[in-house]
Amino acid sequence: MAPRQPTDQRNGAAVRLHVLDLGRLSMDASLLVAGDPPGVAVQTPVAAYVIEHPGGNILFDTGCHPRAMGENGLWPPEYQRDFPWSGRPENLLPARLAVLGLDIATVVLSHLHNDHSGGVEFFPGTPLIVHADELAAAFAATDDSSYVRAETAIWRAKNLNWQPIRSGLRLNDAVTILDWGPGHAAGMLGLHIRLPNSGDIILASDALYCAANYAPNFRLPGLLVDEAGCAATARRIAALAGRFQAEVWFGHDGAQFASLEACYD
Ligand SMILES: [Zn+2]
Repeated sequence: MAPRQPTDQRNGAAVRLHVLDLGRLSMDASLLVAGDPPGVAVQTPVAAYVIEHPGGNILFDTGCHPRAMGENGLWPPEYQRDFPWSGRPENLLPARLAVLGLDIATVVLSHLHNDHSGGVEFFPGTPLIVHADELAAAFAATDDSSYVRAETAIWRAKNLNWQPIRSGLRLNDAVTILDWGPGHAAGMLGLHIRLPNSGDIILASDALYCAANYAPNFRLPGLLVDEAGCAATARRIAALAGRFQAEVWFGHDGAQFASLEACYD
């Protein structure tokens, strides 16, 4: 009897991680790193990731809504002023996915802020895995300070297939969802991906905006809802990265994002 092959080796199918460039979001430097001088706008990447897997392709985050900006945009004027999105039509998620030509079986949302959840309405019926506390916070919002209510209204109307979780979850032999808990938002999720050639990668999303939030100095971001949670998550990510010898990819680090390749296997 032949030795059993790992799932990703069967049928010659490969596991790959695709990096999707979904444009740029401008943010004040003091929001990225608390204590940095305010008044300096930083162009940060908006990213999503597709894990191509023979058991079903997984999308991590969905970028900004294609109709976010403009006079009749879904984002309120203060969002458009303080966090303007810029990009080309090909940077919008539906266009990026069309280029990849991959069906999405599962969507995992790091959290439901406007630059991560803008595309969920394009996945009716697809399981949308989200932290239960984050989903509750988004639907309970009574103003637009953290979540765009014009978008949550669309989600309500479309009766999407939310799959709230409150713990980590192994999706397949290569992908595990990590429960970051509260910090940057009410409930954050990350991803641990094990690739045959590239090794282990941890997608921190906005649990770590950028390298300055991370080791060795762990400088907190200026935008958070739970300071202790944010600090604890940053240290937990460092511990996991050490344990698995994993690379940590940040949520909005321009220099790191520019160094990434389009595809890893
Ligand atoms: Zn973000």
